[in-house]
Amino acid sequence: MPKHQDAPNADRQASSRPAASRRVAKHRFSRRGFTRRNQLIGLTAALAAAAGTTTVGLSSAASGPGTSNTGTGLSPALADALVAARVDRRDLGSRDASRIDLSLDDAQKAAASSAARQRAEKLAANATLTQRRALALAAAKATAAKKAADSAKALPAAKAAAAAVAERAAIAKAAAPKIVLPTTGYHLTARFNQAGGRWAHNHTGLDFAAPIGTPVRSVMAGEVIQADWEGAYGRQVKVRHADGTVTSYSHMSEFDVSVGDSVQAGTMVGRIGITGNTTGPHVHFEVLPNGGAPIDPEPWLRDHGLNP
Ligand SMILES: [Zn+2]
Repeated sequence: MPKHQDAPNADRQASSRPAASRRVAKHRFSRRGFTRRNQLIGLTAALAAAAGTTTVGLSSAASGPGTSNTGTGLSPALADALVAARVDRRDLGSRDASRIDLSLDDAQKAAASSAARQRAEKLAANATLTQRRALALAAAKATAAKKAADSAKALPAAKAAAAAVAERAAIAKAAAPKIVLPTTGYHLTARFNQAGGRWAHNHTGLDFAAPIGTPVRSVMAGEVIQADWEGAYGRQVKVRHADGTVTSYSHMSEFDVSVGDSVQAGTMVGRIGITGNTTGPHVHFEVLPNGGAPIDPEPWLRDHGLNP
């Protein structure tokens, strides 16, 4: 019968609702279902009675299970329903309608809430994406700004570096030695005017002994006036300097300049060797003022600031 089957029916309705609201909804819907169905049955029965018919047809949607059609006269259940309808009519007309509305509102609210939640989630996702894009853009901008700043800094820095290089070059040129020793890593093995069995006369130069192949350099700027084999001197280079003084480099293993070459103080003219009359690798160095008779190289070098 409708009255007794309403509650389970309502329970089924309630069970289709979200679990979170089921406990609250169960009681409410149970009561509502009961009242609503009885109201409908009551109203239909009253209308039927007023129209003089005894047949009550309720749509399945409205009545649910347990609805019965009577043949002639009111069944006891229908009579009960009619009584219940009369009792409840006063407030059912408005209250239940509003409850249905409320119920619809609930559904709409639930749907709206769901839609709103989905929208919010989508918005949040979009916001996150937008945020990520914004962050990426900001990062890119920062990188670009840093690059610009760096290049802005780099430009004067490059200029400063170039200026420093130029300055150092100028200093180096200004400080370029006017005179250097003819070789490096040497030890003196024979001095000027030293007597010895190998020489027809006393020694005419200063001997700088160093390993074969050690570079031999022009002591001052000048012009190469000889680069040739010269008897007992072996391979010999002679350089004439600005003041007319000639310096010579002998016993070399090779030449690195030719007659007519301009050289600077320190320009490599050849390498240490053992050519000519010598018992070991060394450069025989001579100083000939105005290309004349050789003088002692040691005081001459000292006069020019060097201490061989
Ligand atoms: Zn010598």
